[in-house]
Amino acid sequence: MGIVEELESAIDMVDLVGRYTKLKKSGANYKALCPFPGHSEKTPSFMVSPTKQIAYCFGCHKGGGAVKFIMDIENCSFREAIEILSSLTGIKVNGNFGNDNFKEKKNLYSLYKDATNYYKNALKNYPEVKKYLYDRDLNEEIINNFNIGYSDSGIELFSYLKSKGYEDEQISESQIFLDIKSKKDKFIGRVIFPIQNSRGDFVAFAGRILDKGEPKYLNSPASKIYDKSNILYNIFNARQAITKEDFVIICEGYMDVIALNRGGILNCVAVSGTALTEKHLTLVKRLTKKVFLCFDGDSAGQKATKLSLEKMKNEGFEVRIISLPNGKDPDEIISSGKDFKEFIKNALTPIGYFIKKSKFNTESLEDKKILLTEALELIKSYSDGIEKDFYLKELSKLLEIKESIVYDRFNKIKFSYKKSDEDANLKAKNNISSKEMIIAYCLIDESNLEFFKQKIIFEEYLPKDLKEIFENGIEKINNFPLEKKEKIRGISLKIEDSENYKNSLNKAEDLEKIMNGLNREIFKQTEEALKQKINSGDNDALLEYTKLINKAKKSGIK
Ligand SMILES: [Zn+2]
Repeated sequence: MGIVEELESAIDMVDLVGRYTKLKKSGANYKALCPFPGHSEKTPSFMVSPTKQIAYCFGCHKGGGAVKFIMDIENCSFREAIEILSSLTGIKVNGNFGNDNFKEKKNLYSLYKDATNYYKNALKNYPEVKKYLYDRDLNEEIINNFNIGYSDSGIELFSYLKSKGYEDEQISESQIFLDIKSKKDKFIGRVIFPIQNSRGDFVAFAGRILDKGEPKYLNSPASKIYDKSNILYNIFNARQAITKEDFVIICEGYMDVIALNRGGILNCVAVSGTALTEKHLTLVKRLTKKVFLCFDGDSAGQKATKLSLEKMKNEGFEVRIISLPNGKDPDEIISSGKDFKEFIKNALTPIGYFIKKSKFNTESLEDKKILLTEALELIKSYSDGIEKDFYLKELSKLLEIKESIVYDRFNKIKFSYKKSDEDANLKAKNNISSKEMIIAYCLIDESNLEFFKQKIIFEEYLPKDLKEIFENGIEKINNFPLEKKEKIRGISLKIEDSENYKNSLNKAEDLEKIMNGLNREIFKQTEEALKQKINSGDNDALLEYTKLINKAKKSGIK
């Protein structure tokens, strides 16, 4: 058995996919909104089959067996997917398997983990640093849960890492040290907040200065394992709370997340030192569609809120904004003993937030009119009808304007819904060829193969891969490239799941239609190719062309 087969037979797809997204049972299969990066949708195209052990999205054609699924959802290489599955299943992968790049990454991950342990242990020796943390209401449990540590000595950290077997070069690459010769830790004297990726690997550090000084936080630079645009602080630890509560609170910083945890609110993450990115949203989308933004009340926080709202618009998220009293952050709210859940309960919709932040005086008739127009423009930019309706009703209440007037004004705004390029892309990707359909049908039932073979018209122009299947059987699909094979497996799942297939009265007729489609495709392509050859003076092509046309006429294709 190959390593792929071995890993895939050791893991259950429903279980594996369930780690990334919530699945709903639907007949024999499970369905969900597409969890893959770059595809957002409102009706589920993603399906998991417990019997076929595949997970596939028919919208973006991503997914397949466990290996392909991991490659697509983690956006990683084949080798990395194998490593991930190997650590999930406990099946050891042959040492020669990983390439150098991966080994390096692996070492950086384990190096960061070892450094985290070093910092954690170091903190125990500094009661004054602990007191600093206790003074900020952090207790032992929080310190432990968030793996908080302290950077005390670069020399000791260096020799600790050496004792763990890391080479100078690897330590240098970790970028923990300012200068590896003098063994200067760049975080020296700072409280360390280790940062984990969505799989729980330690990938970076944020060091907070103890007294007043700049910068308040020092962050690890971007590296092979750390790209802050796809890291949400605490998402690994919060993932269960997020799916349980079915919403996530996105804050600005590490201390906000820690403060909320102190207040018993566990379903929170932070973007650290960056705006909310599409990659962040992909991570969130796997766990929940409901997002509460909780940025600071200052102008930077308001700007971040506005940008984030734009990013999430029309991506299928339900968004609320937690509005904190002027200049306060979650830390201060929790520390003052207030119940943060009240702020969650009173969170604003994007329209509510827009009205609240506007500088207009709603007592003034003139201001009210301008505000109404601006709010209607904003509502217009949403594409979902129900969402729009919801906001219009809210707007009527907030501005104390009769609903009928609000709707009337709204309808007067001309709609110019431009289909985005992304939509067009998706549609193009959605194309399934007749050839793929045929192989998928053979996969469902190999006896279909004989049926198709009898209906071939242009034997000599049959695509190579299809010919291989027709001549040597469906198991030759295993020689296809992974992507191609998984797409066909996905299509076969879709066919079997369709009402059309289940209720079909005349299966032979269905198969014939598909084969006719292929015959026509082959004819058109060949005709086109031969015409071009003829135009360039190829006489043999002319003869071939005549034969093709005759055959097509005889069989009723032309
Ligand atoms: Zn998809």
